[in-house]
Amino acid sequence: MRTVYLNGNYVPENEAHISVFDRGFLFADGVYEVTTVLNGKLIGFDGHIERLQRSLTELGYKHKVDREEMLAIHRELVERNTLEQGMIYLQMTRGNPGDRDFAFPPEDTPLTVVLFTQEKQIIGTSVESEGLKVISIDDLRWGRRDIKTVQLLYPSLAKMEAKAQGADDAWMVQEGFVTEGTSNNAYIVKGGKIITRNLSNDILHGITRKSVLACAKLLQMEVEERPFTIEEAYEADEAFATSASGFTNPIVEIDGNKVGTGKPGPVGDRLRALYIEENLKAAI
Ligand code: PMP
Repeated sequence: MRTVYLNGNYVPENEAHISVFDRGFLFADGVYEVTTVLNGKLIGFDGHIERLQRSLTELGYKHKVDREEMLAIHRELVERNTLEQGMIYLQMTRGNPGDRDFAFPPEDTPLTVVLFTQEKQIIGTSVESEGLKVISIDDLRWGRRDIKTVQLLYPSLAKMEAKAQGADDAWMVQEGFVTEGTSNNAYIVKGGKIITRNLSNDILHGITRKSVLACAKLLQMEVEERPFTIEEAYEADEAFATSASGFTNPIVEIDGNKVGTGKPGPVGDRLRALYIEENLKAAI
């Protein structure tokens, strides 16, 4: 049984209880982060903590995240659960006001803070060699996708639609342009150039995205940050997606159209290799 963290305590997972009045439960009034663990070490930890603070601030939470405290909790969970490969999920909600009310509770209401580990094979998966199939779907999410909230119902529906169509994931499309995957940032490669949507409120500012673009620079690859259409993606030489727990995943089919050769491409492969090398060096 896992040991999880809840509001200052390390408890067995079946003893971790949250109020029915919790704002996270009633209003999806919460934010989260997922940090990957590889060789028992944290990948990109500081980026996740910085984004967590930004998400909280953007939603009017006054809470200041204590990096050292958070690092200690992450490490304690890795140790207690002997986690070698997988991730740590962290969620903070606006707490339990003791009633249901649209208005925010008083500012001194303690936040609910939950962290737990989840085992997952991160490297050496079949996805690396075979790639993923995606479908496109209308992006019907709200307008502040840069905030990492727990409102994940639409991405969850999109993922189920992808599975119903025999694919692995969905790329969401707004006014003809790809925003991102259900839980990852989206990229295409054309004529050696990497194209990915520019940062704005339309997409999550991926921690992996930032690191992968830095890797692209190290490899002197050309990057264009701009929206691309789903039709451009059909015609791309290569496509891939990035996320904390997936690193870079090749996309080999979009809406039934083979991307390039229909196999993982060299640009994505090189980026993945360098990403792993650089992030293992920097893991804490
Ligand atoms: N976009 C969305 C919608 C996501 O949910 C995620 C993963 N949480 C990402 C992009 C990738 O972000 P990161 O690289 O920080 O995991």
